[in-house]
Amino acid sequence: MADCLFCKIVNREIPGSIVYEDDGVLAFNDINPQAPTHVLIIPKRHIESLNALEPDDDRLVGELVRRAAAIAKERGFAAGGFRTVFNTNRDAGQTVLHIHLHLLGGRSLSWPPG
Ligand code: 5GP
Ligand code: ZN
Repeated sequence: MADCLFCKIVNREIPGSIVYEDDGVLAFNDINPQAPTHVLIIPKRHIESLNALEPDDDRLVGELVRRAAAIAKERGFAAGGFRTVFNTNRDAGQTVLHIHLHLLGGRSLSWPPG
């Protein structure tokens, strides 16, 4: 997707503070962090939102979720706890239409969200 911000980070057309990469997944620091760790974990392939997922994407989504847990474990807050969020479309405040899993950790997080 030529004009997608996160595709541009995948393609190194704009800089990202990358914390993990493999063939299908990229993880990078959120530019406006809401917690000591605020990492965005994305598929390299452009998928707009959870609404566009197909059964063949199940493995990829599992990889995003397991990567979040792995980063939390590496950083020492997996046992204490962390939050993972996929915002979908307008009412949830999705501003970048390329699936991204927010990983928030390193502090106590309140619930419910606004
Ligand atoms: P959403 O609101 O779509 O769930 O989350 C989008 C996230 O992308 C926000 O937390 C925002 O701070 C982050 N973001 C927006 N633009 C950029 C950027 O250029 N680089 C990085 N690393 N994060 C961005
Ligand atoms: Zn994209």
